Amino acid sequence: MMIDFEFRKQVMDAHIGSEVIKYCYQCSRCTDLCPVSNLTDQFYTRPFDPRMAVLGSLLGYKNLLLSLPPEAVWSCQVCDTCDEVCPQNIEVTEIITLLKNVTTSLGKAPDHIYGQAKAVFDSAKAIPSQPAIERRREQLGLPAVAAPDVSEVQTLLNNVGAAKKLK
Ligand code: SF4
Ligand code: SF4
Repeated sequence: MMIDFEFRKQVMDAHIGSEVIKYCYQCSRCTDLCPVSNLTDQFYTRPFDPRMAVLGSLLGYKNLLLSLPPEAVWSCQVCDTCDEVCPQNIEVTEIITLLKNVTTSLGKAPDHIYGQAKAVFDSAKAIPSQPAIERRREQLGLPAVAAPDVSEVQTLLNNVGAAKKLK
């Protein structure tokens, strides 16, 4: 198994309190109490496993992590349960967020993630307005939603290189 030291450094740098992550002793509390892991355990042969994500990141096994199906990273719903229950105060979600960013920049995120990112880029909304939603709001007596400044959002996204990643 090849160790990617640059990736390992990225993990250490991204983690809040970088020293702490080294003290993961693989107790599996994060996985045992992760709601997504418990749910996928019933349906998939390879359930979502935050403990393995931490171990692979800690060891610098970037290629191994990237060879897994996208769900191995993207199933995380950022509920923060793992962070709260880890006896070593490891911010598991920080590591998983880094993995999401790495897979996205390599074009390995699930298709719907790019679709949603494109919707934000094109309309400045995660869920673009639809006449049906607007009609419903009107029926409920809710005020019209102000149109966002799309060009401002696009400028911000371009400044962080989002347009390039979306291609
Ligand atoms: S709960 Fe913390 S110490 Fe235990 S396996 Fe998960 S990250 Fe490692
Ligand atoms: S934040 Fe993600 S990995 Fe952690 S418990 Fe929630 S779904 Fe599981």
